[in-house]
This record gives sequence, structure tokens and C-alpha cells, in this order.
Amino acid sequence: MATIGILGGGQLARMLALAGAPLGHRFLVVDSAEDACAGQVAPLLRADWRDFEALQKFAEQVDVATFDFENVPAATAEWLTGHTRVFPNPAALAVAQDRLREKTLFGEVGLETPLFATVDSMDELRTAVARTGLPAVLKTRRLGYDGKGQFVLRQPSDIEAAWAALGGVPLILEAFVAFEKEISVVAVRSRSGEFRHYPLTRNWHRNGILSASLAPVTVDEGLQQRAVERAQALAERLDYVGVFALELFSFEGKLLGNEMAPRVHNSGHWTIEGAVCSQFENHVRAVLGLPLGDTAARGCSVMLNWVGELPDANPVLGEMGAHWHDYGKPPREGRKVGHTTVCADSAAGLVEPLQRLGRSLGRQDQVAPVIAALLGKE
Ligand code: AMP
Repeated sequence: MATIGILGGGQLARMLALAGAPLGHRFLVVDSAEDACAGQVAPLLRADWRDFEALQKFAEQVDVATFDFENVPAATAEWLTGHTRVFPNPAALAVAQDRLREKTLFGEVGLETPLFATVDSMDELRTAVARTGLPAVLKTRRLGYDGKGQFVLRQPSDIEAAWAALGGVPLILEAFVAFEKEISVVAVRSRSGEFRHYPLTRNWHRNGILSASLAPVTVDEGLQQRAVERAQALAERLDYVGVFALELFSFEGKLLGNEMAPRVHNSGHWTIEGAVCSQFENHVRAVLGLPLGDTAARGCSVMLNWVGELPDANPVLGEMGAHWHDYGKPPREGRKVGHTTVCADSAAGLVEPLQRLGRSLGRQDQVAPVIAALLGKE
């Protein structure tokens, strides 16, 4: 039995604890919020991440520390390495926290990206726009997630508004990619360097937040293999340990790297019921130095995110093959409060359950793009 410490007490920490418990492991979660939802399933140490006295107590009680949030201050992650084992390592976390370093690394391991340029002033923004063309997306280099800290520029007159909205912190401008599909590779690397990946997942976003995922999906076989090879190269370069996700855009026969999430990922939630060993269990196994579990899919799965507030649970509970996840969080606009995974033996078998759920939950808009993809009617 080991105790795994998790910095951050959101739904990812909660699902890690729920996955690790059957293996006999215990968890200790640190979060400054009294009502952090992982605290409903694991002991919660209420403390700020910069409170080193509290972190000392935390480190004394855990065998290994990991993260449920990638924006844990680098100083905290560094400090922890002097007091316990920390996975993924802080240097890998630091790269993934900075969009510029991340995209530069993508290039170094041979993963193409949208055209990008660093922006630290209004003049640099003008020069960058001349380089990428319009439309383009201005993003903060740090602390961005779920579409936060982003501004889409469509015409030259948007430059000033974009600068007014985001200027003052280091930024990156990216060419806007009119992608055909958004794809992610969720993968895991163990302490001994073993690497496994889940089948490719297709993702749909609404307002910058993940709305639905479908797995497994196939893209051109060569591309698929390249995506997985690049993911492995990234993990090796960073000496990464644990689960991570590589988010890609499929565009004109290429896969372009958008970002790497150094943690279990929303586009891997389907693996709880839809894979032999879930991303959460595999993360626990990886950080403890245990053999990794089988990442093969069991049939086909669709994950629907519940954002803002939960729909009625009963239609989901009454749908065979559907699984209900309530994170125990109060509703709030833009907040991920739960998800549902629908599993079937084949992609075709997902269509009817999704149609029924779309209707009964009043979420036709959310299921429509997935159904269109399943029916080949995009
Ligand atoms: P991110 O926080 O970078 O993952 O961005 C959130 C979402 O915004 C992505 O999943 C895309 O749907 C969209 N997005 C981000 N960057 C671009 C881009 N360069 N071109 C087109 N869409 C983008």
C-alpha cells in the first residue's frame, strides 16, 4: 500500500483516487478550497500551494506526489522534489506550462505546429500578424486552459482589442487553423520508460471547452503512427512519467500539435469504462513504478461533458451502456461538473443511445456532431 499525494483537488484528483483505491492505495489531496471535490473521496489537506510548512507535512505523509492541475507553481513542484518523489518531473511540467516552450519542443521532435510567433508588445503583435496572416489566435503563454486567455483576431482592426484584452503578459500568436478534426493521443510512460498509448480520440469543443469525445477513431494510418511516435518522442525527451495528452489538429492531410497536457486528460475520461485499464489507473501505476495496464479499447465510446450544470441523471441511468459521473461540484457557468460515457460494441451501436439521450436530456446540439461523424454525414 502506498500513499499518493495530489496537488489540486478537482475532478481529476477525484477520479485518480477512485481508480487507485481498488489497487489498495491511499491518497492525500492538497487544495486551498474547503469544498474541493476530491475531498469527498480522499483526505484533503487544506493549504495554499505556496505554504511550504503545509507542503512539508504533506510530503511527510506521501510516498509520491503528482498533479491534478498543470499550473501548479514551478517553485512548488521544484521544492517538492527535495522532499518526496514527484511525477511528472517539474522540468516537464514547466515546458507544458509555457505554450512557446511547448511548441518549440514539438518542432524539435518533428511534430509540425500551426505557424506561431512570440508577442511581448503591440509592435511585435503587428509583426506577428504580418507573419501568420489572419485569422489568428492570440494566447497567453502561461496559465491558459479551456480556451481561457485567448483572443481570435479576424481583421486588422482586432489587433488593438486583442492587445487590450491580453497585453501585459507574455503572449504567443498562432495562425488560426481551419482544422477538419481535433484529435488527441492519451499516452502513459512508466518510471522504467515503458510507453503505451490509448487509441486516438476525436474531440469537439464548444466555447473552448471540451464538449464530446469519440474513441477509437481512425485517421490515415501513416498519420496515426506518426502522431503516436511524436507523443513517445516527447515523453522520452522530457523523461516524462505518468499519463499525458497530446492535442492535435488534423488539417490538409497533416496532424499539427496544439498542446500537451501534463496530466490525465478530459479526452481520456472515456477510458474508465471504454478501455481495459483506465487513464486514471495507469497514471497511478506509472507514478508508483508498477507495470502499466492494457490501453486497448473495449468497443466504442462517446464521452459527453456536462458543463455549467448537470442534466437529469435518470435518462442516463436508464440507458444501457451509459455511465453517469457527477463530480460533486456546485453548478457554475463554464465549470465541468460531470460527464457521461456511452459504450457500445461498435460505432454504429452508439447512434441510437446518443439520439435518445440527446432528446431526453435536451442536448441534441451536443450529440449532433458526434452522430454526424458516426453516420459519415459531416
Ligand atoms: P487550447 O487551450 O490551446 O487547447 O485551445 C482551446 C481550443 O481552441 C482548441 O481545442 C481549439 O478548438 C481552439 N483553438 C486553439 N488554437 C487554435 C488555432 N491555432 N486554430 C484554430 N483553433 C484553435
